[in-house]
Amino acid sequence: MRNLFADLSEIVFERESLADLTSYRVGGPARWLARPRSIDDLARVVHRCAREDVPVFTLGRGANLLVSDEGVDGMVIRLDAPVFNRVEWPTASNGGASVMAGGGTDMYRLVSESVRRGLAGLEGLGGIPGRLGGIVRMNAGGRWGQIADVVRDLTVVDPLGGIRRLSAAEAGFGYRRSNLGGMVVCQVRMELKREDPAAIRERFKVVWASKRRTQPMAELSAGCVFKNPPGGSAGLLIDRAGLKGHAVGGARVSELHANFIVVRPGTAADDIFTLIGRIRREVARRFGVELDLEIEVWGRRRVRAMEATV
Ligand SMILES: Cc1cc2nc3c(=O)[nH]c(=O)nc-3n(C[C@H](O)[C@H](O)[C@H](O)COP(=O)(O)OP(=O)(O)OC[C@H]3O[C@@H](n4cnc5c(N)ncnc54)[C@H](O)[C@@H]3O)c2cc1C
Repeated sequence: MRNLFADLSEIVFERESLADLTSYRVGGPARWLARPRSIDDLARVVHRCAREDVPVFTLGRGANLLVSDEGVDGMVIRLDAPVFNRVEWPTASNGGASVMAGGGTDMYRLVSESVRRGLAGLEGLGGIPGRLGGIVRMNAGGRWGQIADVVRDLTVVDPLGGIRRLSAAEAGFGYRRSNLGGMVVCQVRMELKREDPAAIRERFKVVWASKRRTQPMAELSAGCVFKNPPGGSAGLLIDRAGLKGHAVGGARVSELHANFIVVRPGTAADDIFTLIGRIRREVARRFGVELDLEIEVWGRRRVRAMEATV
């Protein structure tokens, strides 16, 4: 087969494992993995993929992903170069509170640093793992707010490889969603607020303590597996179905939060797919509710294993 990316060999690698790049630590290799050094590099890779009909998958921290054991037949993009991890903080002297950060910026780092600098607006996202681009794409958040509350505008690479500036309104944020599918988020401008650092730190501590109390933070997971059904709670249904602690191989329904599947290192993605299928079937049988996935699946889907109806 013709090598589609021969001239981009400094930034495009073949058959790279993804297992270490997701929070479940499972899954097969990417057919290609790109690690662009600049936005222009990135645009070139995306443009080539569009021309050659190669599907593009942008990887953040992999905290909302389940990659199949067969891997991903396409181009996975990883924004780990310095340009995608740079944060421009406002200076205290000009009183501004506008922060510009790269799409690859680690969210824990961004949140804790904003708290330390007395900039309010991100502390409610404490304890949510991800890279800024993934956080924005998913409009991640919870009871203390969501990233859309502070985003002003974004620089993205569109599916044809064009570099574009989008306003927050154009990003189409909704509940745990956006219209950014197919775009690669490279840079994000956020408007925070100057406040007493001690007060922000107090709120941050409350958020962290609550997360630690209610979620299995120390185990390998990808957060909530299912979306809450209208007016209900997926975790509660799974709990009521008696599935807490139910395991397939190294994958288990968390005893702390039934909407989390936690895994032992070395677990196969197939075990997680099978467990997802059992949960969906049992919840459908007992309550007539078909649970939809919140996590994203990459690679050949194990459709039959995950079907809700028997
Ligand atoms: C312990 C734990 C707790 C969690 N708690 C919460 C919570 O409270 N609230 C919540 O909302 N989520 C939560 N999550 C889920 C997860 O943190 C979020 O979904 C987060 O947005 C994932 O970011 P990521 O960078 O890991 O994205 P990934 O999982 O890598 O990717 C998710 C999606 O974003 C896309 N994407 C990634 N980077 C980019 C980019 N630069 N440009 C465009 N698209 C991109 C991917 O293609 C994919 O479609 C939790 C997860 C864990 C493991």
